[in-house]
This record gives sequence, C-alpha cells and structure tokens, in this order.
Amino acid sequence: MKEPTMNKEIFLCSICNINSGTCKEDCKFCSQSVRYKADIQRYKQKDMSDILKEAKTARDNGALGFCLVTADKGLNDKSIEFVSSIARLLSKEVPQLRLIACNGTASLEQLLKLKESGIKAYNHNLETSESFYPNICTTHPWSERYETCLNVNKAGLTLISGGIFGLGETQEDRLSMLNSLNSLKPSSVPINFYHHNEALELSPNPLKIEEAFSLIKLTRDKVPDAQRIMLAGGRELIFGDRQSEIFSYGANSIVIGNYLTTSGRAMNKDLDMLRLLNLKIAKTVK
Ligand code: SF4
Repeated sequence: MKEPTMNKEIFLCSICNINSGTCKEDCKFCSQSVRYKADIQRYKQKDMSDILKEAKTARDNGALGFCLVTADKGLNDKSIEFVSSIARLLSKEVPQLRLIACNGTASLEQLLKLKESGIKAYNHNLETSESFYPNICTTHPWSERYETCLNVNKAGLTLISGGIFGLGETQEDRLSMLNSLNSLKPSSVPINFYHHNEALELSPNPLKIEEAFSLIKLTRDKVPDAQRIMLAGGRELIFGDRQSEIFSYGANSIVIGNYLTTSGRAMNKDLDMLRLLNLKIAKTVK
C-alpha cells in the first residue's frame, strides 16, 4: 500500500568513484572487477581537484551526503591515506557535506583511522542473503561483509548498508537479507537494482516495475528503524518515468548524479521532480 508523502524530507546523496575498475574480486554483478573486462573507465586515484569539483557540485544541488568509493575488496594503508587525505580536504573546503566512505571490508582499527580524518559514515552493503551469496561471489564470504558492518557500529560511525535486487535471488533470499540488515540497525539502507552490463555473465535484471516498487515497501517494513531508505543504482533503469512514485512506497533518500560506472540522470531533473511533488530536501541528518 502506498503511503502519503506530504511533508516528507528527502535526503540527497552523491557518490564519487575515487578509484575505479581495479578490483580483483569476482562479484558477478560488478563491472569494476578486472575479471570481466567491462568497458568502463579504470583509474587508480581520481585527481583531487576533480573530487573537490564534484563535491561542490553535489553540495550546490542539495546533497548532504558525499560518498568516497574505492573499487577494491577492502582497505589497506595506502587507501586509508588516500581516503583520509580527501576527507581532510573536503571537511575544510566543503564543510556542508557529510562524508561517507565505501571502501570494502574494514577492521575496527582501519575504520577508526577514517573517522579521525573526518569520515562520519561507512557504507558496506550485504548485497544479498548469506545463502545466495556464493552464487554471486566466490572470492570472499558474506560473513566478512557482516563483520565489517559490525565493525562500523563498534567504531561509532553511522552504518549505511543495503543490497542489490535482481541478481536471480528468490523472495526468501530478499527477506533473509533484510532480516540480516535489520539486525545491524543501519541508519540508511541503499537499495540497488542490478544494471546489466554485457561483459557480465549474469542475466539482465528480471524484475518488473510493480515488483520493484513492492521491494522498496518490503525494505521499509523489514528495516523499520532505518532513518533512510535510499534508492541508488538502477533507479532510472527500473522505474523510468515513474520514478516519482518511489517516495510513496517508503523511499526517503536518493542518490543524485552518476553512479559508479553507469550514468544517472541530470541532477536538475531530480530537483524538478522533488519540487513537483512538493517534497523538501533534507538540510540536516538526524
Ligand atoms: S568487492 Fe566491490 S568492487 Fe570488488 S568486484 Fe565486488 S562489488 Fe565490485
């Protein structure tokens, strides 16, 4: 059932791929793995001036969250230093943004180092259920993902954790993932819809639009304490010209701008959509 959206505040987040396409893991939905040779941009470190420019554009378009993403299995000393140096720069130059890191598996000690540099939240998705996970990744276990999320909570960072729908998982898998997410008490739950790339061996996303709407609602219902249900990758692909309906199914956050390896729609189109729906852009995070 749809819910009223009046007076709803929408949290906008922007993601920045600060290192792209260099991951050696084999996640079957991910074009950033070097194994599948997808036709994407690949680079080790994005230029600081480009990151700063993207951060300012995000802020100017109403984003509160700005997420620094690296394509790798997890953090190491070099990537911690890279992410930390960006966090220090952005904290000074664009203090309006709430900085999020998304850098794969992480220990408590590594997360505490990021926190010291100005990172406020950490995004690490469970992706799918524990039992389905070996079907989409064989190079690391789901338990490492769960463990990282526990570390995020221990570090006192805000936990952002969600998953991806349309990988061939069953409804039971979806429920299992949502129950696992609920046990971690994330503040924000990003929902992604698999966006097929021809280099990947997975079949294109089989989800129909009504089913996808019901998965937003299911996420809202099954992770009731989450402050935000965020529509991330695949929004344009799945919902097309019915994107404005996502908010009445429980979404109250969206990623604006481009995704990691696929384009989003122009930010001003999202801002126009919110204006037409009379939805306010959130100015602070609770
Ligand atoms: S670990 Fe992350 S970046 Fe690497 S292949 Fe998997 S999803 Fe992609």
